[in-house]
Amino acid sequence: MTKVVYQGRSYERLDDESVLRCLLRNGIRAPYSCESGACQACTMRAISGTPPANSQEDLKETQKALGYFKPCVCRPDEDLEVALLDDAHNHKYQMEVVEKRFLNDEILRLRLTCDESFEYRAGQFINIFKDDLIRSYSMASLPVQDDLLELHVKLVPNGVVSHWLCDDVQLGDQLTVTGPMGECFYHEVDSTEGLLAVGTGSGLAPLWGIVRDALIQGYEKPIILCHGAMKPENLYYVEALRQLEETHENFNYFPCVSGLDEDEVPAGMSSGFPNDVAFAQLPSLAKWQVFLCGHPDMVNNTKKQAFLAGASLKNIHADPFVMAPHA
Ligand SMILES: Cc1cc2nc3c(=O)[nH]c(=O)nc-3n(C[C@H](O)[C@H](O)[C@H](O)COP(=O)(O)OP(=O)(O)OC[C@H]3O[C@@H](n4cnc5c(N)ncnc54)[C@H](O)[C@@H]3O)c2cc1C
Repeated sequence: MTKVVYQGRSYERLDDESVLRCLLRNGIRAPYSCESGACQACTMRAISGTPPANSQEDLKETQKALGYFKPCVCRPDEDLEVALLDDAHNHKYQMEVVEKRFLNDEILRLRLTCDESFEYRAGQFINIFKDDLIRSYSMASLPVQDDLLELHVKLVPNGVVSHWLCDDVQLGDQLTVTGPMGECFYHEVDSTEGLLAVGTGSGLAPLWGIVRDALIQGYEKPIILCHGAMKPENLYYVEALRQLEETHENFNYFPCVSGLDEDEVPAGMSSGFPNDVAFAQLPSLAKWQVFLCGHPDMVNNTKKQAFLAGASLKNIHADPFVMAPHA
């Protein structure tokens, strides 16, 4: 049985127990949220021992070199001495709520300011704290263009943090936040043929930032954005995206409706799931950059589809909006 060493004390891991669960079972207050390796809220550093490769997936090469790993999916074959991150990753910012506006019945736009300098890339996410609960929200704003940091929060039935943000948090309130995190942002890659962005629901948040970032940085190859919802009224930013389409020849936007019969879908919108709409017109994704955000099933299935259609794994950036398991 391997051991986890933390602050000089040794804790034996139970069969198949993750490093995170081992520490929590022993009363260590380690931060965590999704417990599936997606949100990175629990990221730690290995001081000695080598974390298994799966626990470093999606981390930056620089972070891997420093021994960063995700303890929630880490089941090492050897003893590991670990430390909580006490650097920028875990630095807590206070952000003030300066705008609350519902974009439709279920999506709230929150705009925030921060007194401290907060550097991020559009499409990365922050973790918001509500007492001991932590939830991730992606950034829709583009730092070079937008003064305020923008989030799109979908109201989840019985969701503790989304309801708190939608119903209770008031203008002027301070939110405690860590970040920025994640690798889902636009960056120039040599000789790509195009950029495909596919999202559902509030998965548009990072894509709204990423697409504008690519355009503002002068990306000239085709950019295709497919945003899906069950009903037309669940889509949002439709007009803003159509305007962006008018001003940029290389940008095409497809609002997709999956919950109506084909003949009921309004003109100018596509019938079906956004990934199906995308693949119907793009049979090959060789040399394309792909960004996928929103419902975990859609993101994970489309990631496989994109790979099979020729996209290289290093060019597929995916943020599945995984929910935290029941406490
Ligand atoms: C990297 C990342 C980025 C994210 N970005 C955004 C964003 O930009 N906008 C946004 O709105 N959300 C985003 N999320 C999701 C967000 O972090 C929260 O999970 C979400 O807001 C729900 O939190 P909650 O506390 O309201 O719900 P909870 O109280 O955590 O859960 C509510 C209920 O939903 C149930 N549930 C669990 N899994 C599912 C499921 N798959 N489908 C349906 N119900 C489920 C739970 O069991 C519970 O009963 C992101 C998640 C990740 C990992």
